[in-house]
Amino acid sequence: MNEKNETPIIEFSDVTKRFGVLTVLDNFNFSVAKGEKVTLIGPSGSGKSTVLRILMTLEPFQEGRLTLDGISYHEPGGRGRFQASERHLRQIRNHVGMVFQSFNLFPHMTVLRNVIEAPVRVLGMQREEAEVRGIDLLQMVGLADKKDHYPAQLSGGQQQRVAIARALAMRPRVLLFDEPTSALDPQLVGEVLSVIRGLAHEHDLTMLLVTHEMRFAREMSDRVCFFDKGRICEQGAPDEIFGQPKNERTREFLSSVL
Ligand code: ADP
Ligand code: MG
Repeated sequence: MNEKNETPIIEFSDVTKRFGVLTVLDNFNFSVAKGEKVTLIGPSGSGKSTVLRILMTLEPFQEGRLTLDGISYHEPGGRGRFQASERHLRQIRNHVGMVFQSFNLFPHMTVLRNVIEAPVRVLGMQREEAEVRGIDLLQMVGLADKKDHYPAQLSGGQQQRVAIARALAMRPRVLLFDEPTSALDPQLVGEVLSVIRGLAHEHDLTMLLVTHEMRFAREMSDRVCFFDKGRICEQGAPDEIFGQPKNERTREFLSSVL
């Protein structure tokens, strides 16, 4: 297991991200090892989603460098554009999957079609092959019997499980979760967490999870990072962060949510 702490798959080096005059990340440094499961916790507005969105190439940044699975890109000019070529951006997008709070399934497509759409269109996979694999993935999230349903016919928990299957269909090296259970009724949270828990056992899959489910974070993470005002104030093993937080802000935050 030790080798997993030696090769970073994600590396933010002095990344600065602004929205107009608001600096959200100020010389942000953060790295994640291959296969590591990292949870980001912290108050609303602290920049957690921004970190995931930058990784997913959904947000440009102004300064610094991001390296993802050996592909480096940066924007020294500060004009809010990536310097990576389109080809690199596509590679990154194909290696990184993201699951959002609001499931974002295509409403006019069946469950199976939602799962196979990107592999067929983006990766050029044969439809039949994509369907076989899609059904396997739906089986893994416990929804193979719903393959011909439309998203609106499913509960929120089921939709989110489809969204996870859809992200996995692209065989991502890195999987990002942004509050995947925050939009769900409490009784549906467990089924989604149990799918994520299953994925956490996959040695090679790097996972970055933003969540307010503290017990879950403690149980499944290799490392927990406490975010405040665009910085990681404190990070460490879950038992350290939840058991003996050193930083005053971490303690305040945890006492407000636990
Ligand atoms: P978190 O996910 O920790 O709640 P975010 O990363 O969403 O925080 O937001 C960090 C800060 O950036 C907040 O102050 C938020 O208002 C601001 N922000 C996020 N997205 C945008 C945007 N598209 N335009 C302007 N400000 C934004
Ligand atoms: Mg957020």
